[in-house]
Amino acid sequence: MKKVDYKALSIILLVFIIPCFIYYSKYENIRNSIENNSITLFDENKAENKVNALLEENRDKELINNTSYEKFVYLSFKKDEIMTHFVVDIKTGEETTILNYVKEDKKTEFFNKIKELLYLKYPKFIASNLEGEEQILDVELLENELIIYYKGDSVEPKIEDQLLLHVNYNEVKDYLDFTLALDNKYENENGYHYNKNKKTVALTFDDGPNGEKTNRLLNILEENKAHATFFMVGNRMESGRDTILNVLNKGNEIGSHSYSHQNMKRMRLNDVIQGEKKTREIYKSITGKDLLYTRPPYGNITSQIKSNLDTIFINWNLDTEDWLHRDKDKIVNAVLKDIDDGDIILMHDSYDTTVEAVEELLPELYVRGYQVVSVSELATLKNITLEQHHLYYSLKEV
Ligand SMILES: [Zn+2]
Repeated sequence: MKKVDYKALSIILLVFIIPCFIYYSKYENIRNSIENNSITLFDENKAENKVNALLEENRDKELINNTSYEKFVYLSFKKDEIMTHFVVDIKTGEETTILNYVKEDKKTEFFNKIKELLYLKYPKFIASNLEGEEQILDVELLENELIIYYKGDSVEPKIEDQLLLHVNYNEVKDYLDFTLALDNKYENENGYHYNKNKKTVALTFDDGPNGEKTNRLLNILEENKAHATFFMVGNRMESGRDTILNVLNKGNEIGSHSYSHQNMKRMRLNDVIQGEKKTREIYKSITGKDLLYTRPPYGNITSQIKSNLDTIFINWNLDTEDWLHRDKDKIVNAVLKDIDDGDIILMHDSYDTTVEAVEELLPELYVRGYQVVSVSELATLKNITLEQHHLYYSLKEV
């Protein structure tokens, strides 16, 4: 048997096989890199093809936006005031949504910020129904903001308006995987910024402060982005100090409802003046502020009181008779059947039925397009300067 020639074998190995192996490995690397490149190239084509296809499909519409961001192309079209938006991922060429470019580890922060802005803009009965990604219908990109459109089909009472939220890029830039223009002068949408062009009514509550009932009303007002004017009785103010401060802290206002709730028509002028003076002093000692308005008990004054008492008299033109019926539905219906722009509504924060009625009414008024505010806010929105020695029943635009 022939002996194996190890020497020759080593030479063969060194001269042929190893170089072949090295060459093949190099070739493999090159081949892989070519393949990878061609994958990228191919996908870029895919994205481009998709964008072209969308441009073609929507050519009956006006092209509003066709912008490439870091990771996607954003297209938006308009036809008959209806906007359509498309997002095409640059890597995959697939249609996707803006929400896929929220950084994976910042999703919670992003949605918490959106929630905060929703509650700033909308009353609770709406905002609480828009939380969560599944409520989002569409997202539009503008130069320095995104607009989130919501489904809102679970909002009760039903609202006709399209529910949407403008989110400035500054508010969410840390959470996004793409860049918009920064804009240092912006204001978030705020449900307390009342609008002169909307129907507006003043809500007023007499006979307080009424502790727990007044405080429940304050929460309901707050949840609905509404304000009210509370006409309070002077001799109840000391014991209702905390409630008074709470009324003011939540952006509402307070007027006088006389010192001891007597019918001013049956009082001597001097007693009326002294009672009002006492009420103002107590109020000032609690709040440091002056009382500007007076609602006479039962709405009763004489022309003598009107010309001699230095105050602005505020009555009402929509009486809910809540003190008489003490029936939630009757109070709600009394308002809904007669309400009109510029009305001043009379209620009393002394009854549970009134509190329940307001809770039902405020969302209903909101969906009907009404803003519910204090007397001062109503006067401002209607461009009316309230004057002393005048008696007002409503504040319709002049
Ligand atoms: Zn009263």
